[in-house]
Amino acid sequence: MKIAIIGAGISGLMCAYRLSKKFKVSIFERENYVGGLCSNISLDNLRIEKYNHFFSRQDSEIIKVIQDLGLANSLSFKKVMQASIIDGEFFDMSRIFSLLCLPGVSIIEKIKLAVFLINVSITNDGLRFNSQSASEWIENNCSKNVFDRYFKPMLEFKFQNYADVSASYLWARIKEGKQNEIGVLSGGMEGLLSALENKIRQSGAKIKLSSTIRGIERTKNNKWILQTEDSLSEFDCIVCCISLKEVEKLCDEELKNDLKIPQTDYLFAASYIIKLKKPLSAGYWLFINHKSNGVPNIIINTSALTGDNLVYCPVYKRANIISETEKENIFKDLICALKNINPDFDQTWVEKKVFCQDTFVEPVLMNKFIDQLVAAVGRVQGLYLPDAIYERHLLKTVNTQAIRAQLVFTKIMEGNLA
Ligand SMILES: Cc1cc2nc3c(=O)[nH]c(=O)nc-3n(C[C@H](O)[C@H](O)[C@H](O)COP(=O)(O)OP(=O)(O)OC[C@H]3O[C@@H](n4cnc5c(N)ncnc54)[C@H](O)[C@@H]3O)c2cc1C
Repeated sequence: MKIAIIGAGISGLMCAYRLSKKFKVSIFERENYVGGLCSNISLDNLRIEKYNHFFSRQDSEIIKVIQDLGLANSLSFKKVMQASIIDGEFFDMSRIFSLLCLPGVSIIEKIKLAVFLINVSITNDGLRFNSQSASEWIENNCSKNVFDRYFKPMLEFKFQNYADVSASYLWARIKEGKQNEIGVLSGGMEGLLSALENKIRQSGAKIKLSSTIRGIERTKNNKWILQTEDSLSEFDCIVCCISLKEVEKLCDEELKNDLKIPQTDYLFAASYIIKLKKPLSAGYWLFINHKSNGVPNIIINTSALTGDNLVYCPVYKRANIISETEKENIFKDLICALKNINPDFDQTWVEKKVFCQDTFVEPVLMNKFIDQLVAAVGRVQGLYLPDAIYERHLLKTVNTQAIRAQLVFTKIMEGNLA
């Protein structure tokens, strides 16, 4: 069986890693390198990740792959501080005791919040919250005041307009955010990407770089035609390891109607990566919510882990490329946020900076969106959409993409044996 994979991000590579052991696989990648959001860029003489990636001990699928590829020694888990900085004051969010000190909420609200967080941590089926909005969920279980003070700024940071964001998304974030120990790969994801690339090539699969797919077409005898800029090739099935929005752009009207991909917004992501002359703070993941800042900021301070004094400042937008003027404003905002973390900080600490941005990085998990997505899987035979597979893992992470690749592999094997 001949299989085409569109996209050589971690999802495409994981699918190819599994499928190339049994089938004839070709991967088509638009860029002249693999890795997508997990790839590295250059900053000065350093090779660094363009978005900082970390794992939790629960990310068992990707940890298994890291071990299978002989990279277990490059993965290390470290204790880190994850803090919220509210009006200049640090709250270590990995300690439940910090909740008792949160300003602006009554003792009853603190108790309700603590009970709510404990309940979330023991609930495994977050999909059941999908029919309510994140704000309703918090207001009903805690209070409007708790929502406004502590959850609204986080949702605004990520989605701007949060009214349609599902409670299932928030459930997944709260569950993920509970760890005070995180796993990182030395040198970032680059080692994992090149080990995967080597293994895939060794198994005889082709990785076609600088090959943008322009269209996909179903033939009358249930084969698939892939169209690049200068060629057409036939396959038995296609695995689309790109966003569902980009999949739709490749389909003709008939195929789009058959797929019935539910509509949702997608987030675009950007990141400033700043190399500082001195360490900024002991904290690793820092959420800054300060009255004087226009927007709250998240700062990921990797100096706590690598000693390189690199600070990642991610920014999310709903489907809109960031303009040059916005870029300047974001930088001004960040300088203000860094000063909130360390009052001694000033702009002369900035040694180098680089900015990058990407489109369609993750879907906005809107109310009821996931139910429709689950129904969309398997509607069209021979076309696999890992991004439409929603089981317990709702956030789009490296581990989720590894789980989805395994599920696609199982489905294709079952179809092949039937
Ligand atoms: C700021 C940020 C921080 C993150 N932090 C973490 C973290 O700490 N831990 C974690 O687990 N995850 C993290 N993630 C999420 C993780 O990066 C993604 O879930 C994962 O990289 C998605 O992989 P993918 O292969 O599905 O998509 P992508 O990486 O987007 O890959 C898609 C690939 O398809 C290619 N492509 C697109 N269209 C076409 C076409 N028409 N033809 C050919 N090729 C095409 C693209 O060039 C790209 O290479 C983070 C993401 C962001 C944005």
